[in-house]
Amino acid sequence: MRTLLAGAVVVTCDASHTIHIPGDVLIDGDRIAYVGPSYSGPYDRRIDAGGCLVMPGLINAHTHSPMTLFRSLADDVDLQVFLEERVWPREVVLTPEDVYAGAALAAVEMLKSGVTTYADMYFWEEQLAQAALDVGIRSLQTPGILESPAWEAILGTWERRLDRVLSFCRDWEGRGGLIHTGVGPHAPYTLPLEALREIAGEAHRRGLLVHIHLVETQREQREFNARGQGSTAQILEGIGFFDGPVLAAHSVWIDDGDELIYARHGVAVAHCPQSNAKLGSGIAPLARLLAREVVVGLGTDGAATNNNLDLWEEIRLAPLLAKVSALDPKPVPAGQALAMATRQGAAALRLPAVGTLEEGKKADVILLNLDETIVPIFTPSTYIDHLVYSGGRHLVDSVWVNGRHVVDGGHVRTVDEEAVRAAAQRAALAVSRRIEGVGV
Ligand SMILES: [Zn+2]
Repeated sequence: MRTLLAGAVVVTCDASHTIHIPGDVLIDGDRIAYVGPSYSGPYDRRIDAGGCLVMPGLINAHTHSPMTLFRSLADDVDLQVFLEERVWPREVVLTPEDVYAGAALAAVEMLKSGVTTYADMYFWEEQLAQAALDVGIRSLQTPGILESPAWEAILGTWERRLDRVLSFCRDWEGRGGLIHTGVGPHAPYTLPLEALREIAGEAHRRGLLVHIHLVETQREQREFNARGQGSTAQILEGIGFFDGPVLAAHSVWIDDGDELIYARHGVAVAHCPQSNAKLGSGIAPLARLLAREVVVGLGTDGAATNNNLDLWEEIRLAPLLAKVSALDPKPVPAGQALAMATRQGAAALRLPAVGTLEEGKKADVILLNLDETIVPIFTPSTYIDHLVYSGGRHLVDSVWVNGRHVVDGGHVRTVDEEAVRAAAQRAALAVSRRIEGVGV
């Protein structure tokens, strides 16, 4: 099946920021077969995309999809209270069915906002992956590993958990053309150093991405530095943690030396400006990371700390906070902000087949309506400025993932949206009832 999107403004998000006006995109099976000014070959279906903008699907580089069930439950508290008092007591009573319901809600929310790929870290990974497959969205599943007495009954020891995660990766990698896998050691404060060494070593040997939370809060930075063995990044470098692909979420409280370690080892960052702001954690040094050519993607984090999964807000907030931090409007220009949500996000997740509209890439494509927020246009690059500073999920009309038309006219075609919302509502209330005796 060949679908031609004809006569659109085509924003490729490639390294040269190429824009075709008007432009055509041909989707052939699961691949992009043509991108350019005017396609004259054969096709099966033609969609008149005049008055619309076509671009690659957005990439959410860090989230915990089932935390949609906790949306609004942890507002106005810091990370420690959020985790220890609000979230962890609920997480240990989640059933696989709850997790599926929360993950499906997240997948629907993301798909409708134009996200076609997300990096997920959570537990009950079979349910996470199945929900993503059922909704028809691409995901990088990096099942979480942590050591905590509260979790031991569910996850077992970290060694047992690692075995299960590695077998999940073997079983699920490539399923439906949509599931990608990696390993998710939660954080240096929830795992002993020997576990971090072993987990990273096993992942590196298999070429799997390691996805971890690093130095999210000042408290975390201070507690590590107080051990007198160096910063978190220095300690991790010393145990070989960075000797393979690593995606470091947050990285708010890193210093010059840490940034050099990231640059030296190709550590990518999932920058989550809204979650960091909501928890009062701080502002990551985005402009400095980019100046050192560290690959940075954008993440929403979980819905409990955002509180939505709308990556357009991160696209706008990331450059705004960089400007405020520097007291200078020039760091992180609009093209860079959009790249972090597309091409750079794909690079951060080590998924080179997505993130741009180029021939041969996977057909993860979104079609936006051009409304009054995209007027006036002065030059082709004005489209990029508008997408970053005045665009948003309200523009998203159609979405293709792996060549499949999964959102049409703003509605998901793969699942019953109302049923997904109702199931999540039931699950969230059931979890609250289960912990009533816990007193949280
Ligand atoms: Zn997170």
